[in-house]
Order: sequence, then C-alpha cells, then structure tokens
Amino acid sequence: MSTESNTLETTVPPQILLNHHLKQLRLPTFIREHEKIAFECAQGEVNYQRFLLRLCELEHIDRERRNMERRIKQARFPQVKGLDTFDFQAIPGLNKALVLELARCEWIGRKESCIALGNSGTGKTHTALALGLAACQKNHSVLFTTAAALVHELMEARDERRLRQLQRQLVRVDLLIVDELGYVPFTAVGAELLFEVISRRYEQGAILVTSNLPFDEWTSVFGSERLTGALLDRLTHHSHILEMNGDSYRLETRKRRKQQSAHLAEITQDR
Ligand code: ADP
Ligand code: MG
Repeated sequence: MSTESNTLETTVPPQILLNHHLKQLRLPTFIREHEKIAFECAQGEVNYQRFLLRLCELEHIDRERRNMERRIKQARFPQVKGLDTFDFQAIPGLNKALVLELARCEWIGRKESCIALGNSGTGKTHTALALGLAACQKNHSVLFTTAAALVHELMEARDERRLRQLQRQLVRVDLLIVDELGYVPFTAVGAELLFEVISRRYEQGAILVTSNLPFDEWTSVFGSERLTGALLDRLTHHSHILEMNGDSYRLETRKRRKQQSAHLAEITQDR
C-alpha cells in the first residue's frame, strides 16, 4: 500500500493528487480557494499554520451556508420570509418579545410546541415561516405543511401502505410546522391520522400550529370532542401561544394602496 502511494506521489503531479484527496475528504472550499490563499499568504509572509487556519475557516463558513440552504430546501417552505420583513407595529396585540425569544430556537431543543391563533391575514403564516427559517439557520431540520396537505398526504400513504414510513419521517424532523388548521374540516379518518402525528410528536419533537379558530372551536375541525380534548391536552402542555388577532394586513395594505391612488388621482386632477 505504502509503495503504491509512494509511486503515485512520484508519478502524479502534486496538484492533481491534492485535488483528488480534497475531493475525497469533501472539502470543496479548500479545492476552490487553496491556490489563491497560498499565493496571498506567500505574499504576506504568513506562516503555514495561519494559511491552514484561513482555509479551515472558509471551509467551515461555506459548509454552514450549504447546510442551511439544504435545510431550507428540505423544509418545503412555500416562500422564504424572515422576521426582518415583519412589521410588529401592524399587530400590537402580538407578544413581540415572545416571538423574538422563539426565534432563538431554544424551545425546539426542548421539544415544546407553539400555537399561533388569530383571524385571517394577521401574519400567522409569515411568523411560522420566519420561525421555520430561524430554525434552519440554527441547523435544525424543519418541515412546513398545511393541515389539509398533511392529512391528504397521510391518507395517501395509508392507501399505499407506507403510513409507518411517513409517520417516522414526521417524528424525526426537529420542527414540524402545520399551517392553516381550521379552514377545512377533516373526515373521521383524517382527524385520527393527524391526531396520531401530533400525539407521536408529543415530547419527542417541536411542533408549530397556526389556526384561524380559537381552541373552543377546534371540535368543528376534528369532529369528535374526545379527540379534540386529547389533542389539545398534548398540544397545549409545554406550549407557547401567540395571540394574533387584529386587522388583516392584506386588507390594510389594500386600503392604504387605494387611498394612495385616490390621493394621486386628486393631485393629478388638480393640475
Ligand atoms: P395569515 O396566515 O394570518 O392569514 P399571512 O401571514 O399570510 O396571514 O399574511 C398575509 C400577507 O400579509 C403576507 O404576505 C404577509 O407577509 C403579510 N403580513 C402579514 N402581517 C404582516 C406584518 N405584521 N408585517 C409584514 N407583513 C405582514
Ligand atoms: Mg396563513
């Protein structure tokens, strides 16, 4: 073995051999940057240790970025939105400090739950997306889905005899986001399947649910009072509640736009 590698080292140019090893070791940033950094370090008379340190730092930063991008892709967000574009002043009833605390993601490590409740257009999906994005940035695995899509997927998996496999996947992810619970009522089977997912995750992984319905109306979605009671019992134990009732942001922006164009029309008419 050693003679073979010795022969390789003498017959293959070191540049090619180096790239080969770096590829095997999965160090793409080393491959891309080492010549440039070596040149810079030689110019600046930087020693070998610092040269290696610079390369390692670059590889580390790049790896974290690649991991985050992979996490975001795997999360299946319908859109990527962060808290940086969320206007807390538009919804004064929302506990901003709690949202910022949740964005630090410690609750995910503690396998707790978060429930955002409020009428339509108040930023529940936006907040869920932003908390999901924050989780990806902290290298947590996330899966974003709507309640209707999840139930549909569970029913399909059941029919195709791969329900266990899907349930395992749903338990494994660090944060499961179930958006829009309450818009569509479930069939008895659909309700049971969703209940099972939420039960299995209880104290096993973090979950974030958004709903336009207050808790006392959840029975209308799940059909059964017994099931709803058992589900709420699990979901609200170790949970953070985001109260998000307020004016619809969509409606407010539309109103504002209308006012602006009316104002513009007035100005142009005056001229
Ligand atoms: P919900 O899920 O509560 O019905 P969404 O999160 O879908 O509401 O919000 C509707 C639209 O308004 C989205 O485009 C969202 O980004 C935007 N929006 C809602 N609330 C805010 C807010 N406070 N700041 C910035 N954009 C907001
Ligand atoms: Mg929504």
